[in-house]
Amino acid sequence: MHEVSSREILEKLREMNAKRVLIQTPEGLKREAQSLADFLEENGVDAIISGDINYGACDPADTEAKRLGCDALIHLGHSYMTLHLEVPTIFVPAFAKVDVVPALERNIDEIRKLGGRIALVTTAQHIHQLGRAKAFLEENGFEVLVGRGDSRVSWPGQVLGCNFSAAKTDADGVLFIGAGYFHPVGIAMAVKKPTLAVNPYSGDAIWMDREAERLVRKRWAQIANAMDAERFGVITSTKKGQLRLAEAKRIVRLLREHGKYARLIAMNHINYPALEGFEFDAYVVVACPRVPIDDYENWRKPVLTPREVEILLGLRDEYEFDEILGVEREVDEPLGIALHGG
Ligand code: SF4
Repeated sequence: MHEVSSREILEKLREMNAKRVLIQTPEGLKREAQSLADFLEENGVDAIISGDINYGACDPADTEAKRLGCDALIHLGHSYMTLHLEVPTIFVPAFAKVDVVPALERNIDEIRKLGGRIALVTTAQHIHQLGRAKAFLEENGFEVLVGRGDSRVSWPGQVLGCNFSAAKTDADGVLFIGAGYFHPVGIAMAVKKPTLAVNPYSGDAIWMDREAERLVRKRWAQIANAMDAERFGVITSTKKGQLRLAEAKRIVRLLREHGKYARLIAMNHINYPALEGFEFDAYVVVACPRVPIDDYENWRKPVLTPREVEILLGLRDEYEFDEILGVEREVDEPLGIALHGG
């Protein structure tokens, strides 16, 4: 299903004169990671595979690579994110081989319901086909906007679960190409415009607005549950791309100014069982925004995002998704780069 270019990686490593590497992989690319390690060893590079779970480019194992005496880190499955890294890192996004145009063709009548001017977005997996998708839609009479996105994403039109900057245009609605609810429901929550997700594998199209409304209602319920809380644990992450210490400190300050007890907690893998035993009535996660939104059912205490704390304290009226934003991008960049050295 996915393409990982072992030869290209080997060439990069040779250019870098790397003799030992750590390979980091998401769940879905474990086999590819193992084949890559075998291939690299056959070609004279000592390869170690990281067994830790990885969910995003926000969590590179560069510190671990350094500790293991590796000259480089190969981070599979995600595109480059601007971070301060301790060893040279090759980000290898895995491009899906599925053709996206047949699913667009099949759902063209549904896509028309978005309006004539649409924002087109996808994940790194399908970004190499965004140009084809745009051309197809334009041939069918649409005006297609591909937002530049900010520095947290690698390409125009790319979205992450925590960053929808590329979906923010003055279009009538947003067309997302990709599988699953994770990204498109985030778009609908963050952009607040009609959002249609077209799945290139199944060929289905699903409107995300109702699901987003349902999730926002659940978030209001979490805020209501935290109304009587007096003691807050404010959690910041030690993962490089989720570390939002200044924001976490701001939330601690805000809570204290409003008469609450607040204590800063640093965690790597943020999960409720690890917090059992502390005396807090509620938590605020100032890290990956998807932890409180997608995992709250596993928490026995209310768990909020920073924006939700502002609502709780009466500082904000309207619901807003807690995005992690980068800096504004100044120039358009080409689509479909295979490898990124960090
Ligand atoms: S912060 Fe969360 S949503 Fe963003 S890239 Fe990391 S794991 Fe994905």
